[in-house]
Amino acid sequence: MSTELKGIGASAGIAIAKAYRLEEPELTIEKKEIADTEAEKQRFEQAIHQSKSELEKIKDHANRELGADKAEIFAAHLLVLSDPEMLNPVFDKIGTEGINAEVAMKETADMFVSMFESMDNEYMKERAADIRDVTKRVIAHLLGVQIPNPSLISEEVVIIAEDLTPSDTAQLNRQFVKGFTTDIGGRTSHSAIMARSMEIPAVVGTKQATSNIENGVMVIVDGIDGDVLIDPSDDVIAQYKEKKAKYEAQKAEWAKLVHEPTVSKDGQHVELAANIGTPDDVKGVLENGGEAVGLYRTEFLYMGRDQLPTEDEQFEAYKTVLEKMEGKTVVVRTLDIGGDKELSYLNLPKEMNPFLGFRAIRLCLEEQDIFRTQLRALLRASSYGNLKIMFPMVATVSEFREAKAILLEEKEKLVAKGIHVSNSIEIGMMVEIPSTAVMADQFAKEVDFFSIGTNDLIQYTMAADRMNERVSYLYQPYNPAILRLISMVIDAAHKEGKWVGMCGEMAGDTIAIPILMGLGLDEFSMSATSILPARAQIKGLEKEQAKSIKETVLSMSSSEEVIEFVKKTFHIQ
Ligand code: PEP
Ligand code: MG
Repeated sequence: MSTELKGIGASAGIAIAKAYRLEEPELTIEKKEIADTEAEKQRFEQAIHQSKSELEKIKDHANRELGADKAEIFAAHLLVLSDPEMLNPVFDKIGTEGINAEVAMKETADMFVSMFESMDNEYMKERAADIRDVTKRVIAHLLGVQIPNPSLISEEVVIIAEDLTPSDTAQLNRQFVKGFTTDIGGRTSHSAIMARSMEIPAVVGTKQATSNIENGVMVIVDGIDGDVLIDPSDDVIAQYKEKKAKYEAQKAEWAKLVHEPTVSKDGQHVELAANIGTPDDVKGVLENGGEAVGLYRTEFLYMGRDQLPTEDEQFEAYKTVLEKMEGKTVVVRTLDIGGDKELSYLNLPKEMNPFLGFRAIRLCLEEQDIFRTQLRALLRASSYGNLKIMFPMVATVSEFREAKAILLEEKEKLVAKGIHVSNSIEIGMMVEIPSTAVMADQFAKEVDFFSIGTNDLIQYTMAADRMNERVSYLYQPYNPAILRLISMVIDAAHKEGKWVGMCGEMAGDTIAIPILMGLGLDEFSMSATSILPARAQIKGLEKEQAKSIKETVLSMSSSEEVIEFVKKTFHIQ
């Protein structure tokens, strides 16, 4: 008898495979007196040897699958394990104090970690992080505990985890990881967004996946309806295989629209753009018929590594995207770190409310070296395509002015050095904070465009954490409060002759699309995999009809009322 868990469908598709639990192992250690210290030293040596060969494998794999920069981190770990300054004190401790290797390693590592962390030197702080990671691996070997290495998975699996960070998700190997399910998270958490761009079926927020699913058991992840089936019968497996085949057939139908323009039934064009996180994602944009990149989340360039990317590294990434898009618009968002996107090497203090904290443009305006480096890289890349730049999480007009002034200052400096910078870069901002939506008329005078980030706008307007499945019932894209804010932004921008896009997940939502068309949204930017279904839907809609429902939905009293009305009016199932 199979057990069923209900969660949030975060990435469409069906996965049927064995469970692979991705969890932090228990590494509790106790101090022990050791009589045979020579044997203990040998045990330590053996653990070092095992850790090194494991790291070699991970490094080679990362090099092949993820590129040399991602592999560097493991090379740094290997260096720690070959460093006599690190290892000799452990051998000495075992010999002179007669203690077990786990504790000798931990005490030595702690000493180095606190020494490096107290230094005012970024490089040394990064070494502290390496030592912490390596110590965990060595202790795991001493305890005979397996540390999961998702990048080493070599058979088809479904990942089961309490949560996945965006960098965990980035390391998943699509060939073998057929799907994943997590206890926590919402549809707009970044691991969910990445799952969609990687086309990995996912169900998040099941609350109890890790407490119900054992390693190796058969699991079905239905990312279409948000269901997880544990140990399904043959009949149920057959049923889901059929559902999977139907979904694949539907995708094949959508694929026929890849080279078609996005035009409504009454002949009005709407721009369908894609959200990307890395230059590699451009392939998916083009394969799915994206007309532009409406959001390039540059923070992924800064993640999954142990130091800031250099100006040249960034320049190469931006140039690659612009060139691959061959003159089509590329809207690049400057660094939006914070919330669920951490950069451990910046050593920022933990915050009580990271989504309301020191993040995105707030961090960039304070840590101007980081910001200016990124802006220079972008400006230098601007001659290779059609670049637009926008700032994330702007709350006040003065923040926008300050960010824009810094951008223009960097541009002037580059031009003075004779470096070519495009003269037609539009400068815009994200509308993610209710204050900016309310004040859109003021902002509209200063920006070239807006891009509405509903993932955050909804959470801040409804005061409902986008990552928290327990309040997901309040995370309501169709609540008239949200629709009114969106409408205010579009009207204010159009009054000043500016265009408005939306790059939050709502832009690709079947119920939202007719409403947004009616409100006059100019550009819809979404996960690449949502583009073709959106195009199919828009081809069947009449823009004039969509416009005619504007006042009706804006004057409704609840999300439920809007959903029911839109479904009925536009025949959505
Ligand atoms: C948003 O907030 O809607 C958005 C697109 O940005 P992110 O999801 O990266 O926070
Ligand atoms: Mg956001």
